[in-house]
Order: sequence, then C-alpha cells, then structure tokens
Amino acid sequence: MSARLELRDVSLRYGRSAEPALRNLSLSVEPGELVALLGPSGCGKTTALKIIAGLLAPTSGDVLVDGRSVLRVPPEKREAAMVFQKPLLFPNMSVEANVGFGLRMRGMPQAEIRDRAREALRRVRMEGYGGRHPGELSGGQQQRVSLARALVTEPKLLLLDEPLSALDANLRDALRELLREVQDEGAYTTVFVTHDQEEAVVLADRIALVTDGALRMYDRPEAFYERPKTREVAEFFGATNFIGGRAEASGFSVETSLGTLELAAGVPPGSSVTLTIRPEAVRLGDPRGGCENSFPARVSSATYLGTQVSYGLEAGGTSLRAALPPHARLDVGDEVDVCLPAGSLWPLGG
Ligand code: ATP
Repeated sequence: MSARLELRDVSLRYGRSAEPALRNLSLSVEPGELVALLGPSGCGKTTALKIIAGLLAPTSGDVLVDGRSVLRVPPEKREAAMVFQKPLLFPNMSVEANVGFGLRMRGMPQAEIRDRAREALRRVRMEGYGGRHPGELSGGQQQRVSLARALVTEPKLLLLDEPLSALDANLRDALRELLREVQDEGAYTTVFVTHDQEEAVVLADRIALVTDGALRMYDRPEAFYERPKTREVAEFFGATNFIGGRAEASGFSVETSLGTLELAAGVPPGSSVTLTIRPEAVRLGDPRGGCENSFPARVSSATYLGTQVSYGLEAGGTSLRAALPPHARLDVGDEVDVCLPAGSLWPLGG
C-alpha cells in the first residue's frame, strides 16, 4: 500500500516575494519510510508539505508518487492524508463519526465504515472512545483521533505538519512513542514536519534538514551528529566545538592552534579546514594515554546538568566544550590533559 515519494528540483515563489520559499528541493522517500522535514520557522517545511498534498503547485520541479508525476492530480485524488498542529475535528459528531467521515464521503457501506473506524481507533490506542464527542477528550486524545482519521483512508502518503507541537512535554513524548509504533505497524510512507531536532531524531528513519528553502543534508539521524556536512548543519544539531586549521600534505593531519591534529577522515591537502568534535567524545585527564591528539587546557567553566557535567576548556586561544559523567570532578581553573580521538574529529565541508 505504501508508496515511494520523490520531489525533483521543486521550487516555489509566493506571489511577488523576492526570495523563493523553496529552492530546488530534491528528496526521495522510500515506501514505509518516515522522513522528518526539519528546519527553523519559515524555512519552507509547510510549503513543501502542501506541494506534496497538492494544495500548492510548485513554480518549477516535479512531485512523483511511485514514479508518476502527480502535479496534475487534484488533492482529493492524491491519496495523501494530512494531520495538522491543531486537531480539526467536528465538535458535534462522535469520535467514530469523525474518523469515518472521509469514508462516508466516498459512499462506503455503513458497516465497513464502522469496522474501519474502529480499527483506526485501535491503531492509535483509542478503542472504546468512539462514542464520545471531541469536547470530552484531552488535547492529546484529540490529536490521536486526528491521526486515526488520517489512517482510516489507508493513504499512500501520510503528511504530518507539526502534529505534536501544541501538546505539553509529557504528552508529546507519549505521542512520539505512539507515532513510532503506528509507523512500525503500518509501514506508512510518512513526511513529518518539525522544527524540533530532538523530535526528528527520535522519530525519523531519515532527516531532511532545510534552511532558507534549500536542503542542507539528508541522511540518517546519527549522521547529523557524527558526520555533519557543514558548520551550519553541525550548529543546528547543537555542535559547539569548531577548530580551524590547514590540512598537511598527507591529508590526514591538520595544523591548528592546538597543535597538529590527526584525523581518521581524509581532507584535501593544503586546504583550510574546520574540524568538529562532539562534547561527549572529548576525553579529559585520560590516564590510559595513547591518544593521538592530546594537549593541556584550563577548565574555564563547569555546569552540572544532572546526568552529565559540561566543561568549558581553553587551550591555545581555542574554546572547547566537553561533556563528562557527573562523577568526573573538575574545578574551574584546573589544568587538564585533553584528548581529541582522531576517529571522533570530523572535517566540515564549506
Ligand atoms: P513554520 O515552522 O513557522 O510553520 P515553515 O518552515 O513551515 O515555517 P513555510 O510556512 O513553508 O515555513 O513558509 C516559508 C516561507 O514562505 C516563509 O518566509 C513565509 O513567510 C513564506 N510564506 C508562506 N506562506 C506564504 C503565502 N501564502 N504568501 C506569501 N509568503 C508565504
């Protein structure tokens, strides 16, 4: 049932806007895959979703479902179901009638509508609530009903536009889990719009990071931490350690203000390079030795975060951040040996 979705060089300019809202966005979503369209407010996420749904026509480019262009297919024939930030339920209809509404419009027999509505409610763990009215449900339950209403039509594409962002934190976590379960059970081809990096990481098979209407990186969640393409991508995912330098002739070492740093990943010899490393990968006062890249530093700050302590470090005019378990006690002003394991240093592209 689930389909393959492809966006090819999709651009859109609203009316007389100077800047396009989307620039040459190309993206493919495999059948059964959940892709998070992630980016800051105004980057074009909702615009992309509306283009997929057929609510907006792109200025140029193509949208294909199972290899066929759907640009001429009207929204109601695209077999795409959308869920929005706010649940849009009919207040005077029962939950079951809300869920079955789309099927009734298609003239499906009453008994089949009832069976399918109940099955959709089961999928979102809302069996037994069919007789209530939306006003008798919590916000999270209403959003689950919205999801059931989207699932009941067995859509080829499930399009979710920040469906959890209006909920409070605990509810959001519970619904994230539910969404992942629903996804694993139904293998829907899903595009999930969010500005929340953590949400994208928890939910998505792949993340498409969009800023200023353009795709900056499209990969599995862990790649955004381990192998960010650019400094912009790394910063969006919370990276703070950036070390500038010039690559030596081998391409596997970089001359920096912290000394010569060895890399596991090669860079063009002679090029100017920015390296990054996750705070969790920085080692401090490691007695085991044997580190390729070690140098002394001074602890400039220590912030207790419950499960870890975040240390600020100063060395050779460069500031770094290290995250250690709370039992590693260091004080501001301490001198420590810092180790940046070669395998954890990652060169960023321009
Ligand atoms: P948010 O997370 O805030 O919803 P978004 O990433 O979904 O943002 P879009 O709603 O796709 O962003 O908007 C992308 C850009 O297009 C923004 O600069 C926005 O101001 C502009 N835009 C959106 N809708 C219209 C419209 N109908 N007419 C003109 N400009 C628009």
